[in-house]
Amino acid sequence: MNKILIIGAHPDDEILGVGGTILKHVKAGDQVKILILGDGETARETGDIAKRQNQAQTAAMALGVKDLILEKLPDNQFDSMPLLEVVKKIEKVISEFKPEIVYTHHGNDLNIDHQLTFQAVITACRPQPEFCVKKILTFETLSSTEWQNKTSDKIFLPNEYQDISEFIDKKIEILKNYQDELRLYPHPRSAEGIKILAQYRGLEVGFKYAEAFCLIRNIIN
Ligand SMILES: [Zn+2]
Repeated sequence: MNKILIIGAHPDDEILGVGGTILKHVKAGDQVKILILGDGETARETGDIAKRQNQAQTAAMALGVKDLILEKLPDNQFDSMPLLEVVKKIEKVISEFKPEIVYTHHGNDLNIDHQLTFQAVITACRPQPEFCVKKILTFETLSSTEWQNKTSDKIFLPNEYQDISEFIDKKIEILKNYQDELRLYPHPRSAEGIKILAQYRGLEVGFKYAEAFCLIRNIIN
């Protein structure tokens, strides 16, 4: 049994980026915890934080994850506070839960909260002696990762793939909990868009559907 921590900036990123893989970890009997740092709503005129947090609870239940922490950092404004504040929130969860594997955002997403989440995770995961986190993986988030400019220093280059063929339909069903976040195709954050990306990631490595990750660090002992 592994302890897995998912750290996302907004409620829905956990499903978009790593939903199929979470379902796989849960099925394998791994202990999964999800930490969502931001409220995902304050940047909107009609933002409803309570509703979004309810959706996150429902989505976590559907994933089979009981352990969900919802912080309320202001949406699209993580740069309005000291990075240290974000780091401390992550450090607290890591020191209590002691995960071996951490999944988080690609550090060069277009979204500023995603960028700073990555920066805070890497800072919180300084590999000091006896540190619990052995493996850090970043995921891609449709309508942020691929919307960044595609220069070589920014682009998401996956090197680890999870076969999620068994879970793709469930992933999309769970994402529908966040109905306000879904758009119509050809917007990337649509049911079709999610399936197409999973299909593309799958065909890169011979699976029907996959989620792709970038391995940031793997410490083997
Ligand atoms: Zn996000």
